[in-house]
Amino acid sequence: MSGKYIFVTGGVCSGLGKGVAASSIGSLLENRGLKVRMIKIDPYINVDPGTMSPYQHGEVYVTDDGAETDLDLGNYSRFTSAPLGRINSVTTGQVYQEVIRREREGRFLGRTVQVIPHITDEIKSRIFRVGDQPEVDVTIIEIGGTVGDIESIPFLETARQFIHDLGRQRVLFVHLTLIPIVSDGEMKTKPTQHSVASLRQIGIQPDILLCRASVPVPEELRRKISLFTNVEDEAVISAYDVHSTVYEIPLIFAEQKLDEIILAKLGFPATSCDLSKWQRVVEAYNAAERRVSIGLVGKYTELLDSYKSIYEALYHGGIDNHCQIELVKVDSDQLSDGAEGGLEEILSGLDGILIPGGFGQRGIEGMIQAAGYARRNRLPCFGICLGMQVMVIEYARGVLGWEDASSSEFSPESKHAVVSLLEDQIDVKAYGGTMRLGASPSRVVPGTKLHEIYGRTEISERHRHRYEVANVFREDLVKAGLIFSAFTPDNSLVEASEWPDHPWGIGVQYHPEFKSKPIAPHPLFSAFVAACMGNESS
Ligand code: GLN
Repeated sequence: MSGKYIFVTGGVCSGLGKGVAASSIGSLLENRGLKVRMIKIDPYINVDPGTMSPYQHGEVYVTDDGAETDLDLGNYSRFTSAPLGRINSVTTGQVYQEVIRREREGRFLGRTVQVIPHITDEIKSRIFRVGDQPEVDVTIIEIGGTVGDIESIPFLETARQFIHDLGRQRVLFVHLTLIPIVSDGEMKTKPTQHSVASLRQIGIQPDILLCRASVPVPEELRRKISLFTNVEDEAVISAYDVHSTVYEIPLIFAEQKLDEIILAKLGFPATSCDLSKWQRVVEAYNAAERRVSIGLVGKYTELLDSYKSIYEALYHGGIDNHCQIELVKVDSDQLSDGAEGGLEEILSGLDGILIPGGFGQRGIEGMIQAAGYARRNRLPCFGICLGMQVMVIEYARGVLGWEDASSSEFSPESKHAVVSLLEDQIDVKAYGGTMRLGASPSRVVPGTKLHEIYGRTEISERHRHRYEVANVFREDLVKAGLIFSAFTPDNSLVEASEWPDHPWGIGVQYHPEFKSKPIAPHPLFSAFVAACMGNESS
C-alpha cells in the first residue's frame, strides 16, 4: 500500500469548475511521470445519472465498460490518460445499495449498520479499488457538490479518515473557492474564509486553495487568505478566468508551481516537466485564422453541458484545422413546422449542422427537417446516434417517398419504422435494461467516406442507445442510394450511414465524441470541421 490520494473539494458555490481543476492537476502530475487515476464522487442518491434528464445533470458520459457516468469523467478523459470505467464513478446511491444488499444477506452479523463505519468503509473500499494498485502513484478524488451540503458529509468524513489512516504524507486536500468581486471592484475573501472554516469544522485542513476569480488574485490578497486559512502563501493559487480555452488551465497552474507544491507535499521527487503538448494546443487554438459556424440542432440546447463532449470534440476538430468554431444552438422544436422559408432563415448562415443524440419524441420533426435541408442544400451534416437515425428517417421520407417513415420510438404504429427495436428487445420494458452500452467493435466498409476518414476497417466506439436501423428496410434504403458504411462485425446491425453525392453527410450510431482529446482529436470531428470549412461562405 503506497499510493497517494488527493481530494478535491469545492466551496462557496457550485459550478466553479472542480472537474476541470481536478483534471488539470491530473494532467500536470502525469506530465511529471506519475501514474494517475481519477474518481468522481457524486453525492446524489441516483445510482448513476443514466436515467436523469440532461437538464438536471448535463451530459451522461459513457465509458468503454458501459458505465453511464457524470460528465466530469469526460473532463478527466480529455485532460489525462487515466483509464476510466465503472469503478471511477461513485454515488451515494451505489454505496447505500451495496451496504443494504450486504445487510439483507446478514453479513453484518446482527450489528447496527451505521454511516460511520459502514458507509464510510464502503466509500473507502471503492476508493482503494482504484488507488490501491501497484501501478498507481496518485488517485485524485473529486467530491461533487459544495462543502456544507448535507449529502456530501459522509464523503468528507471518509476523506478525513484517510488522513487518520494513511498520514499526511499520503493524503492532500485541494479546495476550490470563489473570490467574488463586489460592485466597487473590490475582491472579497470572506466567503473563502468561511468555506475553509466549515471544512476545518469537520476535521479537514486544506493544503492548497485554488481561488477562482474573474481576474488574477493579487499577491497581498493571497497572503491575507493564507493568514486566515492557515494555507501556506505559495499554496494559495490564483485560478483566474481564461479567455482562450480551458486547456490553458494546466499551464496557468504550472506557472504558479502547483505541480511542484503537490510533489513536495506528497514526497515525490521533482522530476522534469515538459508542457509542450498543452502549449501546442493553446497556441493552435489562439492562432486559428478561419472561423466556421456549426449549428447544433438538438432539444437540450438551453443547457450547454447537455452536449459537453460534442462541443469539446468540435473544438478539438477546430484546433486540428486551425479554425475557430462558432457554435450556434438551434432548438429543434423551433424547426418543426417544416416551412422551407423558416428553415432557410435559421439554417442558411451555417457552414454545417450537427444533430446529436437524444431520447423521446420532442424535437424530432425539427431535426428531420434540418437533415433534409442539409441534404438538399449540400450542407455538411453530422448525425450522432439519434442524429444518424434522423438522417436515415429523412432519407426514407425524402428519397423513397415514405411519408410515414419514422422510428418505433416515436411512432410505434408506422408501417415504415426504418429505425426500430430488435425482435428480442421488444418485450423488455425496464428502462436501461435493453440499452446497447459501452465500447464494441465495428467494421468499416472500404471505399466509403468513413473508411477514408478512419483509414482502417476495424474500429471500436462507444454506444448508448436502444433502437437500430431496421434490417427489413436496409435493402430498400440501399437501392435508393443510401450508403451504409459500417456494421457490427457479424453484419447484423448498421453502425454508420452516408448520403451519396453529397459533400459530407455522415451519421454514426455510436458516440465518437467521448473519445476525442485536444491532443488527439477524433478523426470524424476533424473531418467534419474540414468539410464545414470547405463550405464556408465568406
Ligand atoms: N433514442 C435513440 C435510441 O435509444 C437514440 C439514443 C441516443 O441518441 N443516445 O436508440
